[in-house]
Amino acid sequence: MTKRIKATRYHDFCCGHRVCGHENKCANLHGHNYRFHFTVEGEQDDLGRVTDFSVIKSTLCQWVEDEWDHRFLLWKDDPLAPSLSAIDSSVVLVPFNPTAENMAEYMVEIIAPKVLKNTNVTLTELIIDETRKCSVTYSL
Ligand SMILES: [Zn+2]
Repeated sequence: MTKRIKATRYHDFCCGHRVCGHENKCANLHGHNYRFHFTVEGEQDDLGRVTDFSVIKSTLCQWVEDEWDHRFLLWKDDPLAPSLSAIDSSVVLVPFNPTAENMAEYMVEIIAPKVLKNTNVTLTELIIDETRKCSVTYSL
């Protein structure tokens, strides 16, 4: 059996969103203190590390910090998108309805391959804590 060793680092940030079409109050404009648990895998280096934890910080955590922290995520097809993005340039239009599940898939499938391109690791799992009680997991 091949061994699998994973390295995980979490990152906390604040972000607004609304879930377009939600049948309850998640359709309202609101936000969360998100915690993303990034898990990467790769060959161990000469020191025995999957990666240095600072690599996760400088790539994945930094991307979230630059792109989503203290911003408001709206689906580009949300009927509110044109008006809200017109009055606030910090609104981020994303190509998906911003549920935690869709955010996780986007990070793992689209963003991580780009920001980890020059590293020797792959983001294989992302757990998103939307609240302290509720989380989603996306795994390759
Ligand atoms: Zn929410």
